[in-house]
Amino acid sequence: MKESAGTTGLILNEPLLWEKGKKGRCGFSLPRRDVEPSPPDEDLMGEGPDFPDLSEVDVVRHYTRLSQWNFGVDTGMYPLGSCTMKYNPKINEKQARLRGFSGAHPLLPADLSQGILKLMFELEGFLAQITGMDAVTLQPAAGAQGELAGMLLIHGYLKSKGRRRSKIIIPDTAHGTNPASAALCGFRPVPVKSGEQGILTPEAIIEVMDEDTAGIMVTNPNTLGLFEENIQKIAEIVHSKGGLVYCDGANMNALMGIAHMGKMGIDILHLNLHKTFSTPHGGGGPGSGPVCVRKYLKPFLPVPRVIRKDDRYSLSEDFPQSIGKLHAFYGNFGVMIKAYSYIRSMGPENLKKASQLAVLNANYIKERLKGIFHLPYDRPCMHECVFSDKFQNKQKITTLNMAKRLMDYGFHPPTIYFPLVVKGAIMIEPTETESKETLDLFIDACQAIADEAKTDPEVLRQAPTHCKVRSLDEAAAARRPCLTG
Ligand SMILES: *Cc1c(COP(=O)(O)O)cnc(C)c1O
Repeated sequence: MKESAGTTGLILNEPLLWEKGKKGRCGFSLPRRDVEPSPPDEDLMGEGPDFPDLSEVDVVRHYTRLSQWNFGVDTGMYPLGSCTMKYNPKINEKQARLRGFSGAHPLLPADLSQGILKLMFELEGFLAQITGMDAVTLQPAAGAQGELAGMLLIHGYLKSKGRRRSKIIIPDTAHGTNPASAALCGFRPVPVKSGEQGILTPEAIIEVMDEDTAGIMVTNPNTLGLFEENIQKIAEIVHSKGGLVYCDGANMNALMGIAHMGKMGIDILHLNLHKTFSTPHGGGGPGSGPVCVRKYLKPFLPVPRVIRKDDRYSLSEDFPQSIGKLHAFYGNFGVMIKAYSYIRSMGPENLKKASQLAVLNANYIKERLKGIFHLPYDRPCMHECVFSDKFQNKQKITTLNMAKRLMDYGFHPPTIYFPLVVKGAIMIEPTETESKETLDLFIDACQAIADEAKTDPEVLRQAPTHCKVRSLDEAAAARRPCLTG
Protein backbone atom coordinates (compact mmCIF):
# COMPACT_ATOMS: atom_id res chain seq x y z
CA MET A 1 0.00 0.00 0.00
CA LYS A 2 1.17 3.47 -0.88
CA GLU A 3 2.47 5.44 2.08
CA SER A 4 0.04 8.05 3.23
CA ALA A 5 -0.92 10.01 6.31
CA GLY A 6 -2.51 6.96 7.89
CA THR A 7 0.01 4.26 7.03
CA THR A 8 2.73 5.19 9.47
CA GLY A 9 2.70 6.04 13.14
CA LEU A 10 2.45 4.25 16.39
CA ILE A 11 -0.82 3.28 18.00
CA LEU A 12 -0.10 2.09 21.51
CA ASN A 13 -2.25 -0.47 23.24
CA GLU A 14 -3.78 0.55 26.52
CA PRO A 15 -5.51 -1.57 29.16
CA LEU A 16 -8.30 -0.37 31.45
CA LEU A 17 -7.12 1.66 34.45
CA TRP A 18 -8.33 -1.21 36.67
CA GLU A 19 -5.99 -3.59 34.89
CA LYS A 20 -3.16 -1.11 34.99
CA GLY A 21 -3.31 -0.17 38.69
CA LYS A 22 -0.97 -1.69 41.33
CA LYS A 23 -1.84 -1.63 45.02
CA GLY A 24 0.01 1.14 46.82
CA ARG A 25 0.81 3.26 43.78
CA CYS A 26 0.10 6.92 44.26
CA GLY A 27 -0.50 9.92 42.02
CA PHE A 28 0.50 12.53 44.57
CA SER A 29 1.48 12.65 48.23
CA LEU A 30 0.52 15.19 50.84
CA PRO A 31 2.88 16.50 53.51
CA ARG A 32 2.53 14.94 56.95
CA ARG A 33 -0.40 16.43 58.88
CA ASP A 34 0.64 18.78 61.70
CA VAL A 35 -2.81 19.21 63.34
CA GLU A 36 -4.99 16.80 65.29
CA PRO A 37 -7.31 14.75 63.08
CA SER A 38 -10.96 15.65 63.52
CA PRO A 39 -13.22 12.83 64.76
CA PRO A 40 -14.53 10.66 61.90
CA ASP A 41 -18.00 11.47 60.61
CA GLU A 42 -19.92 8.19 60.80
CA ASP A 43 -22.20 9.17 57.92
CA LEU A 44 -19.27 9.57 55.58
CA MET A 45 -17.50 6.37 56.64
CA GLY A 46 -17.94 3.10 54.82
CA GLU A 47 -16.50 1.25 51.91
CA GLY A 48 -14.70 3.55 49.49
CA PRO A 49 -15.15 3.10 45.76
CA ASP A 50 -13.07 0.46 44.05
CA PHE A 51 -10.63 2.81 42.37
CA PRO A 52 -7.28 1.51 41.15
CA ASP A 53 -4.02 2.89 42.59
CA LEU A 54 -2.09 4.69 39.86
CA SER A 55 0.88 7.00 39.51
CA GLU A 56 0.60 10.36 37.77
CA VAL A 57 2.40 9.16 34.65
CA ASP A 58 0.13 6.09 34.47
CA VAL A 59 -2.89 8.36 34.28
CA VAL A 60 -1.36 10.90 31.89
CA ARG A 61 -0.29 8.17 29.46
CA HIS A 62 -3.60 6.38 29.75
CA TYR A 63 -5.71 9.33 28.68
CA THR A 64 -3.20 10.61 26.13
CA ARG A 65 -3.11 7.21 24.46
CA LEU A 66 -6.89 6.97 24.43
CA SER A 67 -7.08 10.44 22.87
CA GLN A 68 -4.80 9.20 20.08
CA TRP A 69 -7.16 6.40 19.18
CA ASN A 70 -9.60 8.99 18.10
CA PHE A 71 -9.86 10.94 14.88
CA GLY A 72 -11.00 14.51 14.71
CA VAL A 73 -10.78 17.58 12.58
CA ASP A 74 -7.68 18.62 14.54
CA THR A 75 -5.87 15.47 13.41
CA GLY A 76 -6.87 15.16 9.78
CA MET A 77 -9.25 15.93 6.95
CA TYR A 78 -12.91 15.24 7.45
CA PRO A 79 -14.54 14.98 4.03
CA LEU A 80 -17.97 15.18 5.71
CA GLY A 81 -17.46 18.91 5.66
CA SER A 82 -19.57 21.65 7.16
CA CYS A 83 -22.43 19.21 7.38
CA THR A 84 -20.63 17.58 10.29
CA MET A 85 -17.22 18.82 11.18
CA LYS A 86 -15.65 21.68 9.31
CA TYR A 87 -12.52 23.15 10.86
CA ASN A 88 -13.37 26.30 12.77
CA PRO A 89 -11.03 28.94 14.15
CA LYS A 90 -10.29 28.25 17.82
CA ILE A 91 -10.73 31.93 18.68
CA ASN A 92 -14.50 31.45 18.44
CA GLU A 93 -14.44 28.76 21.14
CA LYS A 94 -12.38 31.06 23.29
CA GLN A 95 -14.91 33.88 23.02
CA ALA A 96 -17.71 31.53 24.00
CA ARG A 97 -15.80 30.72 27.20
CA LEU A 98 -15.48 34.36 28.32
CA ARG A 99 -16.71 34.54 31.91
CA GLY A 100 -19.34 37.20 31.25
CA PHE A 101 -20.97 34.94 28.65
CA SER A 102 -20.47 31.47 30.06
CA GLY A 103 -21.47 32.47 33.59
CA ALA A 104 -24.58 34.44 32.63
CA HIS A 105 -27.86 33.04 33.90
CA PRO A 106 -30.87 33.13 31.58
CA LEU A 107 -32.98 34.64 34.36
CA LEU A 108 -30.73 37.67 34.73
CA PRO A 109 -32.80 40.82 34.28
CA ALA A 110 -32.29 42.72 31.03
CA ASP A 111 -30.49 45.51 32.91
CA LEU A 112 -27.72 43.09 33.82
CA SER A 113 -27.48 41.37 30.44
CA GLN A 114 -27.20 44.23 27.99
CA GLY A 115 -24.10 42.76 26.33
CA ILE A 116 -25.77 39.43 25.79
CA LEU A 117 -28.95 40.94 24.37
CA LYS A 118 -26.91 43.22 22.16
CA LEU A 119 -24.99 40.23 20.80
CA MET A 120 -28.24 38.44 19.98
CA PHE A 121 -29.76 41.54 18.40
CA GLU A 122 -26.70 42.17 16.25
CA LEU A 123 -26.35 38.51 15.29
CA GLU A 124 -29.93 38.56 14.01
CA GLY A 125 -29.00 41.60 11.93
CA PHE A 126 -25.87 39.99 10.52
CA LEU A 127 -27.71 36.83 9.54
CA ALA A 128 -30.40 38.91 7.83
CA GLN A 129 -27.71 40.76 5.90
CA ILE A 130 -25.80 37.60 4.94
CA THR A 131 -28.93 35.93 3.59
CA GLY A 132 -30.74 38.94 2.19
CA MET A 133 -33.75 38.40 4.44
CA ASP A 134 -35.50 40.94 6.72
CA ALA A 135 -35.92 39.46 10.21
CA VAL A 136 -34.50 36.56 12.18
CA THR A 137 -35.27 34.43 15.23
CA LEU A 138 -32.40 32.68 16.99
CA GLN A 139 -34.65 30.44 19.07
CA PRO A 140 -34.69 27.05 17.28
CA ALA A 141 -32.11 24.61 18.65
CA ALA A 142 -31.40 22.79 15.39
CA GLY A 143 -32.03 22.81 11.67
CA ALA A 144 -35.00 20.48 12.00
CA GLN A 145 -36.55 22.68 14.69
CA GLY A 146 -36.01 25.66 12.39
CA GLU A 147 -37.96 23.77 9.74
CA LEU A 148 -40.79 23.11 12.19
CA ALA A 149 -40.74 26.82 13.10
CA GLY A 150 -40.95 27.62 9.37
CA MET A 151 -43.94 25.33 8.91
CA LEU A 152 -45.66 26.92 11.92
CA LEU A 153 -44.96 30.35 10.40
CA ILE A 154 -46.58 29.30 7.12
CA HIS A 155 -49.55 27.92 9.01
CA GLY A 156 -49.81 31.06 11.18
CA TYR A 157 -49.59 33.37 8.21
CA LEU A 158 -52.18 31.50 6.12
CA LYS A 159 -54.51 31.33 9.11
CA SER A 160 -54.26 35.09 9.59
CA LYS A 161 -55.51 35.43 6.01
CA GLY A 162 -58.34 33.02 6.70
CA ARG A 163 -56.81 30.29 4.55
CA ARG A 164 -56.30 26.64 5.38
CA ARG A 165 -54.12 24.47 3.22
CA SER A 166 -53.06 20.88 3.76
CA LYS A 167 -50.07 20.09 1.52
CA ILE A 168 -46.38 20.99 1.18
CA ILE A 169 -44.32 20.16 -1.92
CA ILE A 170 -41.03 18.41 -1.16
CA PRO A 171 -38.50 17.49 -3.88
CA ASP A 172 -36.65 14.16 -3.86
CA THR A 173 -33.37 16.00 -3.27
CA ALA A 174 -34.61 17.63 -0.05
CA HIS A 175 -33.03 16.76 3.26
CA GLY A 176 -34.86 13.95 5.07
CA THR A 177 -35.88 16.23 7.92
CA ASN A 178 -37.99 18.36 5.54
CA PRO A 179 -40.93 15.98 5.01
CA ALA A 180 -40.75 15.02 8.70
CA SER A 181 -41.05 18.65 9.81
CA ALA A 182 -43.93 19.30 7.42
CA ALA A 183 -45.75 16.21 8.68
CA LEU A 184 -45.10 17.13 12.33
CA CYS A 185 -46.87 20.42 11.68
CA GLY A 186 -49.84 18.57 10.18
CA PHE A 187 -49.09 19.16 6.50
CA ARG A 188 -49.05 16.32 3.98
CA PRO A 189 -45.72 16.16 2.12
CA VAL A 190 -46.16 15.86 -1.65
CA PRO A 191 -43.04 14.42 -3.27
CA VAL A 192 -41.77 15.79 -6.56
CA LYS A 193 -38.95 14.40 -8.70
CA SER A 194 -35.94 16.41 -9.81
CA GLY A 195 -35.13 16.61 -13.50
CA GLU A 196 -32.33 14.86 -15.36
CA GLN A 197 -29.88 17.54 -14.30
CA GLY A 198 -30.41 16.79 -10.62
CA ILE A 199 -32.40 19.98 -10.03
CA LEU A 200 -36.07 20.92 -10.01
CA THR A 201 -37.84 21.95 -13.18
CA PRO A 202 -40.61 24.57 -13.22
CA GLU A 203 -42.81 22.10 -15.17
CA ALA A 204 -42.74 19.58 -12.32
CA ILE A 205 -43.86 22.27 -9.87
CA ILE A 206 -46.66 23.58 -12.14
CA GLU A 207 -48.01 20.04 -12.18
CA VAL A 208 -48.36 19.70 -8.40
CA MET A 209 -48.91 23.26 -7.16
CA ASP A 210 -52.57 23.96 -6.39
CA GLU A 211 -54.82 26.01 -4.11
CA ASP A 212 -54.62 23.43 -1.32
CA THR A 213 -50.82 23.58 -1.22
CA ALA A 214 -49.35 25.80 1.49
CA GLY A 215 -45.95 26.00 -0.15
CA ILE A 216 -42.73 24.25 -1.06
CA MET A 217 -39.64 23.28 0.96
CA VAL A 218 -36.52 23.44 -1.18
CA THR A 219 -33.06 22.50 0.01
CA ASN A 220 -30.71 24.86 -1.80
CA PRO A 221 -28.02 23.90 -2.63
CA ASN A 222 -29.81 20.57 -2.75
CA THR A 223 -28.52 17.34 -1.25
CA LEU A 224 -26.67 16.55 -4.51
CA GLY A 225 -24.60 19.68 -3.88
CA LEU A 226 -26.29 21.38 -6.86
CA PHE A 227 -27.73 24.86 -6.97
CA GLU A 228 -31.45 24.97 -7.77
CA GLU A 229 -31.09 27.28 -10.75
CA ASN A 230 -34.81 27.48 -11.41
CA ILE A 231 -35.64 28.64 -7.91
CA GLN A 232 -36.86 32.09 -8.95
CA LYS A 233 -39.26 30.67 -11.54
CA ILE A 234 -40.43 28.03 -9.06
CA ALA A 235 -41.04 30.70 -6.41
CA GLU A 236 -43.18 32.64 -8.91
CA ILE A 237 -45.29 29.57 -9.61
CA VAL A 238 -45.82 28.84 -5.91
CA HIS A 239 -46.58 32.49 -5.08
CA SER A 240 -49.03 32.81 -7.97
CA LYS A 241 -51.18 30.12 -6.32
CA GLY A 242 -50.91 31.75 -2.89
CA GLY A 243 -48.24 29.46 -1.45
CA LEU A 244 -45.01 30.29 0.40
CA VAL A 245 -41.44 29.25 -0.38
CA TYR A 246 -39.38 27.69 2.39
CA CYS A 247 -35.66 27.22 1.80
CA ASP A 248 -33.58 24.79 3.81
CA GLY A 249 -30.38 26.79 4.05
CA ALA A 250 -28.38 24.38 6.19
CA ASN A 251 -25.85 24.37 3.36
CA MET A 252 -25.16 28.09 3.48
CA ASN A 253 -21.47 27.27 3.46
CA ALA A 254 -21.67 27.51 -0.33
CA LEU A 255 -23.53 30.80 -0.50
CA MET A 256 -22.46 33.17 2.29
CA GLY A 257 -22.45 36.73 1.04
CA ILE A 258 -23.07 35.55 -2.52
CA ALA A 259 -26.74 34.62 -2.87
CA HIS A 260 -29.55 36.99 -1.90
CA MET A 261 -32.30 34.64 -0.76
CA GLY A 262 -34.95 37.35 -0.66
CA LYS A 263 -34.40 38.20 -4.32
CA MET A 264 -34.65 34.53 -5.22
CA GLY A 265 -38.22 34.56 -3.94
CA ILE A 266 -37.59 32.78 -0.65
CA ASP A 267 -40.04 33.70 2.12
CA ILE A 268 -38.53 31.66 4.95
CA LEU A 269 -35.06 30.20 5.37
CA HIS A 270 -33.31 28.39 8.15
CA LEU A 271 -29.58 28.30 8.79
CA ASN A 272 -27.54 25.84 10.78
CA LEU A 273 -25.12 27.86 12.89
CA HIS A 274 -23.65 24.51 13.93
CA LYS A 275 -22.70 23.77 10.33
CA THR A 276 -21.70 26.97 8.63
CA PHE A 277 -20.99 29.33 11.51
CA SER A 278 -18.34 27.75 13.67
CA THR A 279 -19.87 25.16 15.96
CA PRO A 280 -18.71 21.60 15.28
CA HIS A 281 -21.50 19.11 15.81
CA GLY A 282 -20.18 15.68 14.93
CA GLY A 283 -20.96 14.40 18.40
CA GLY A 284 -24.49 15.80 18.52
CA GLY A 285 -25.68 19.09 19.99
CA PRO A 286 -26.01 21.75 21.03
CA GLY A 287 -27.01 23.48 17.85
CA SER A 288 -28.80 26.54 16.63
CA GLY A 289 -31.14 26.77 13.66
CA PRO A 290 -32.09 30.44 13.21
CA VAL A 291 -35.03 31.19 10.93
CA CYS A 292 -34.86 34.18 8.60
CA VAL A 293 -38.02 35.64 7.09
CA ARG A 294 -39.32 38.35 4.80
CA LYS A 295 -40.75 41.43 6.46
CA TYR A 296 -44.40 40.40 6.22
CA LEU A 297 -43.74 37.31 8.37
CA LYS A 298 -41.94 39.17 11.16
CA PRO A 299 -45.03 39.47 13.44
CA PHE A 300 -45.31 35.67 13.48
CA LEU A 301 -41.76 34.94 14.74
CA PRO A 302 -41.40 33.14 18.10
CA VAL A 303 -41.35 35.13 21.34
CA PRO A 304 -39.61 36.52 23.30
CA ARG A 305 -37.94 38.82 20.78
CA VAL A 306 -34.94 40.98 21.56
CA ILE A 307 -35.86 44.59 20.95
CA ARG A 308 -33.85 47.80 21.04
CA LYS A 309 -35.10 51.13 22.30
CA ASP A 310 -32.80 54.14 22.72
CA ASP A 311 -29.76 51.88 22.70
CA ARG A 312 -31.16 49.71 25.52
CA TYR A 313 -32.03 46.09 24.80
CA SER A 314 -34.86 44.09 26.31
CA LEU A 315 -37.00 41.03 25.69
CA SER A 316 -40.57 41.43 24.57
CA GLU A 317 -43.48 39.02 24.37
CA ASP A 318 -45.73 41.66 22.91
CA PHE A 319 -46.27 40.08 19.51
CA PRO A 320 -49.88 38.89 19.45
CA GLN A 321 -49.55 37.02 16.15
CA SER A 322 -46.44 35.11 17.24
CA ILE A 323 -46.37 31.33 16.85
CA GLY A 324 -45.24 31.22 20.51
CA LYS A 325 -42.21 29.78 22.19
CA LEU A 326 -40.04 26.98 20.76
CA HIS A 327 -37.31 26.61 23.31
CA ALA A 328 -36.62 27.28 26.96
CA PHE A 329 -35.41 30.87 27.29
CA TYR A 330 -33.93 32.10 23.98
CA GLY A 331 -32.11 29.19 22.34
CA ASN A 332 -28.59 27.80 22.69
CA PHE A 333 -26.63 30.93 23.46
CA GLY A 334 -23.12 29.38 23.36
CA VAL A 335 -23.58 28.55 19.69
CA MET A 336 -24.69 32.13 19.00
CA ILE A 337 -21.51 33.55 20.55
CA LYS A 338 -19.36 31.41 18.27
CA ALA A 339 -21.34 32.45 15.20
CA TYR A 340 -21.09 36.11 16.22
CA SER A 341 -17.36 35.82 16.77
CA TYR A 342 -16.94 33.99 13.44
CA ILE A 343 -18.88 36.63 11.51
CA ARG A 344 -17.14 39.58 13.20
CA SER A 345 -13.66 38.13 12.85
CA MET A 346 -14.15 37.16 9.21
CA GLY A 347 -15.93 40.27 7.98
CA PRO A 348 -18.17 40.35 4.89
CA GLU A 349 -15.37 39.94 2.34
CA ASN A 350 -13.85 36.92 4.03
CA LEU A 351 -17.20 35.20 4.61
CA LYS A 352 -17.77 35.45 0.89
CA LYS A 353 -14.26 34.17 0.23
CA ALA A 354 -14.83 31.20 2.56
CA SER A 355 -17.84 30.20 0.46
CA GLN A 356 -15.92 30.71 -2.77
CA LEU A 357 -13.07 28.52 -1.51
CA ALA A 358 -15.49 25.85 -0.28
CA VAL A 359 -17.03 25.72 -3.76
CA LEU A 360 -13.64 25.80 -5.49
CA ASN A 361 -12.30 22.94 -3.34
CA ALA A 362 -15.37 20.80 -4.02
CA ASN A 363 -15.12 21.40 -7.76
CA TYR A 364 -11.40 20.58 -7.71
CA ILE A 365 -12.16 17.25 -6.06
CA LYS A 366 -15.02 16.62 -8.47
CA GLU A 367 -12.84 17.22 -11.52
CA ARG A 368 -9.90 15.18 -10.24
CA LEU A 369 -12.00 12.22 -9.08
CA LYS A 370 -14.46 12.05 -11.92
CA GLY A 371 -12.63 9.37 -13.91
CA ILE A 372 -11.89 7.43 -10.74
CA PHE A 373 -15.40 7.28 -9.32
CA HIS A 374 -18.65 7.44 -11.22
CA LEU A 375 -20.06 10.98 -11.22
CA PRO A 376 -23.82 10.79 -11.79
CA TYR A 377 -24.37 14.54 -12.34
CA ASP A 378 -21.45 16.03 -14.21
CA ARG A 379 -22.02 19.76 -13.73
CA PRO A 380 -20.49 22.47 -11.57
CA CYS A 381 -21.26 21.74 -7.94
CA MET A 382 -21.56 23.91 -4.87
CA HIS A 383 -19.72 23.02 -1.64
CA GLU A 384 -19.96 19.25 -2.07
CA CYS A 385 -19.93 16.65 -4.84
CA VAL A 386 -21.61 13.28 -5.08
CA PHE A 387 -20.10 10.15 -6.66
CA SER A 388 -21.22 6.53 -6.68
CA ASP A 389 -19.57 3.10 -6.52
CA LYS A 390 -20.84 2.11 -9.99
CA PHE A 391 -17.34 1.61 -11.48
CA GLN A 392 -16.12 -0.44 -8.53
CA ASN A 393 -19.29 -2.58 -8.41
CA LYS A 394 -17.81 -4.56 -11.30
CA GLN A 395 -15.28 -5.95 -8.82
CA LYS A 396 -18.06 -6.33 -6.23
CA ILE A 397 -16.56 -3.48 -4.25
CA THR A 398 -19.04 -1.18 -2.55
CA THR A 399 -19.05 2.36 -1.19
CA LEU A 400 -18.81 0.93 2.32
CA ASN A 401 -15.63 -1.04 1.47
CA MET A 402 -13.98 2.05 0.03
CA ALA A 403 -15.07 4.32 2.88
CA LYS A 404 -13.52 1.92 5.39
CA ARG A 405 -10.31 1.67 3.37
CA LEU A 406 -9.94 5.47 3.45
CA MET A 407 -9.28 5.15 7.19
CA ASP A 408 -6.18 3.09 6.40
CA TYR A 409 -4.96 6.03 4.35
CA GLY A 410 -5.50 8.44 7.24
CA PHE A 411 -8.79 10.05 6.25
CA HIS A 412 -12.17 10.06 7.91
CA PRO A 413 -14.71 8.45 5.56
CA PRO A 414 -17.06 10.83 3.73
CA THR A 415 -20.86 10.78 3.92
CA ILE A 416 -22.02 7.53 2.33
CA TYR A 417 -25.34 6.24 0.95
CA PHE A 418 -26.76 9.78 1.06
CA PRO A 419 -28.48 11.36 -0.80
CA LEU A 420 -30.83 8.49 -1.50
CA VAL A 421 -31.38 9.55 -5.12
CA VAL A 422 -27.90 8.20 -5.95
CA LYS A 423 -27.36 4.46 -5.46
CA GLY A 424 -24.17 3.77 -3.48
CA ALA A 425 -23.58 7.50 -3.00
CA ILE A 426 -20.23 8.91 -1.86
CA MET A 427 -20.68 12.54 -0.89
CA ILE A 428 -17.54 14.60 -0.42
CA GLU A 429 -17.44 18.03 1.18
CA PRO A 430 -13.88 19.28 1.65
CA THR A 431 -14.74 22.80 3.00
CA GLU A 432 -12.80 26.02 2.62
CA THR A 433 -10.05 25.29 5.11
CA GLU A 434 -8.27 22.36 3.43
CA SER A 435 -5.15 23.23 1.46
CA LYS A 436 -4.44 21.98 -2.05
CA GLU A 437 -1.75 19.68 -0.60
CA THR A 438 -4.28 18.00 1.68
CA LEU A 439 -6.83 17.72 -1.11
CA ASP A 440 -4.16 16.14 -3.34
CA LEU A 441 -3.30 13.59 -0.63
CA PHE A 442 -6.98 12.75 -0.32
CA ILE A 443 -7.32 12.38 -4.09
CA ASP A 444 -4.20 10.16 -4.18
CA ALA A 445 -5.76 7.96 -1.51
CA CYS A 446 -8.98 7.67 -3.54
CA GLN A 447 -6.97 6.81 -6.65
CA ALA A 448 -5.01 4.16 -4.74
CA ILE A 449 -8.25 2.64 -3.46
CA ALA A 450 -9.78 2.59 -6.95
CA ASP A 451 -6.61 0.83 -8.17
CA GLU A 452 -6.85 -1.69 -5.33
CA ALA A 453 -10.44 -2.40 -6.34
CA LYS A 454 -9.04 -3.74 -9.60
CA THR A 455 -5.83 -5.37 -8.41
CA ASP A 456 -6.54 -6.49 -4.87
CA PRO A 457 -10.26 -6.27 -4.06
CA GLU A 458 -9.87 -8.60 -1.07
CA VAL A 459 -7.85 -5.99 0.84
CA LEU A 460 -10.75 -3.58 0.45
CA ARG A 461 -13.23 -6.12 1.76
CA GLN A 462 -11.12 -6.54 4.89
CA ALA A 463 -10.51 -2.83 5.47
CA PRO A 464 -9.64 -1.16 7.69
CA THR A 465 -6.51 -3.20 8.38
CA HIS A 466 -4.21 -0.47 9.77
CA CYS A 467 -6.54 1.10 12.30
CA LYS A 468 -6.71 0.39 16.00
CA VAL A 469 -10.10 -1.21 15.52
CA ARG A 470 -10.16 -3.49 12.50
CA SER A 471 -13.03 -4.34 10.21
CA LEU A 472 -16.13 -4.84 12.30
CA ASP A 473 -19.27 -6.83 11.82
CA GLU A 474 -21.48 -3.73 11.87
CA ALA A 475 -24.56 -5.48 13.26
CA ALA A 476 -22.70 -7.31 16.03
CA ALA A 477 -20.72 -4.17 16.91
CA ALA A 478 -23.95 -2.32 17.53
CA ARG A 479 -25.69 -5.14 19.42
CA ARG A 480 -22.78 -6.43 21.49
CA PRO A 481 -20.38 -3.49 21.84
CA CYS A 482 -16.94 -4.27 23.26
CA LEU A 483 -15.97 -1.30 25.34
CA THR A 484 -12.46 -2.29 26.38
CA GLY A 485 -9.30 -1.58 24.39
C1 LIG B 1 -28.19 18.96 8.66
C2 LIG B 1 -29.28 19.34 7.81
C3 LIG B 1 -30.57 19.49 8.34
C4 LIG B 1 -30.94 19.15 9.77
O1 LIG B 1 -30.29 19.94 10.71
P1 LIG B 1 -30.23 19.47 12.24
O2 LIG B 1 -29.56 20.59 12.94
O3 LIG B 1 -29.43 18.21 12.26
O4 LIG B 1 -31.62 19.25 12.71
C5 LIG B 1 -31.56 19.90 7.49
N1 LIG B 1 -31.31 20.13 6.21
C6 LIG B 1 -30.08 20.01 5.66
C7 LIG B 1 -29.86 20.30 4.20
C8 LIG B 1 -29.02 19.60 6.43
O5 LIG B 1 -27.81 19.47 5.89
